[in-house]
Amino acid sequence: MSDVNRAGVHSLRADLHSHSIYSDGTMQPGDVARRAAEHGVQLYALTDHDEVSGLAEAKAAAAESSLPFVPGVEVSVTWGATTIHVIGLGVDGEDHTLRDRLAHVRSGRTRRAQDIDASLAAAGISGALEGALRHAENPRMIGRTHFARFLVEQGVCRDVREVFKRYLVEGKPGYVPHRWATLAEAVEMIDNAGGVAVIAHPARYRIDELALHALLEEFRDAGGTALEVITSNHTPEDVRRFTKLALELGFEASSGSDFHGPGESPNVELGRVPTLAPELTPVWHRFV
Ligand code: AMP
Ligand code: MN
Ligand code: MN
Ligand code: MN
Repeated sequence: MSDVNRAGVHSLRADLHSHSIYSDGTMQPGDVARRAAEHGVQLYALTDHDEVSGLAEAKAAAAESSLPFVPGVEVSVTWGATTIHVIGLGVDGEDHTLRDRLAHVRSGRTRRAQDIDASLAAAGISGALEGALRHAENPRMIGRTHFARFLVEQGVCRDVREVFKRYLVEGKPGYVPHRWATLAEAVEMIDNAGGVAVIAHPARYRIDELALHALLEEFRDAGGTALEVITSNHTPEDVRRFTKLALELGFEASSGSDFHGPGESPNVELGRVPTLAPELTPVWHRFV
């Protein structure tokens, strides 16, 4: 690649993290793709949680908008006591092994939702499962975001962000521990389906510096490729910290809004993220 092309790839407006109604987003995959194009995104990935069924529709809509598309998925992982999200970019959504493995990761959601409902009921909030299901297009994908929307709708919290401080997280009402895929399983299923693995929103995990290093080393040893250095919930300080860590540990860098729908979280919009530091290698050099 020439320096000019390298600079071009670097400044490409990539948004490699977004959701549709196939997981906990509020828009159809095609509408998310069209919205990405309208917001000036130049390379777009749909990355629904543990689900690839929206990729064909997103790909077709992106093609109609002449928007280069990367098929993706965001895999839920249990690492020790912590839930980690690992994004797979460039996966083959038709791959049967990947589909089977994701179905297995998704399988505990219904039971978990019943337990969340019971925990909220014990805290005096009744009808949460029924209410959450009204916000879930696909009942089998029922998750905390749907409960969060119910709690906002009921006036229990002002917005989804507040819900994830007061409810549904460790030590708070509605929290239910759950086992997802292991880190090695997630990287392997992504790798086998032709994709590269990226640690999503690394600042979100409540682990100390030592544990973070252990996580990243384990991820690298398992075959992980990149860190999502840029994402909507990262502060400038988070971006500096993960830029440094990516360089230190030899990871490529990804960028994505983690868009779930208009009005869901203030300031989260497709393509609305800062640019990557010039010394980082953008993971999207693989897709352009
Ligand atoms: P689940 O997979 O059911 O545990 O739900 C996880 C989802 O909850 C994430 O994908 C986000 O959409 C949402 N979520 C988790 N933590 C937060 C947070 N701190 N702020 C906003 N949304 C969050
Ligand atoms: Mn989500
Ligand atoms: Mn996530
Ligand atoms: Mn996400």
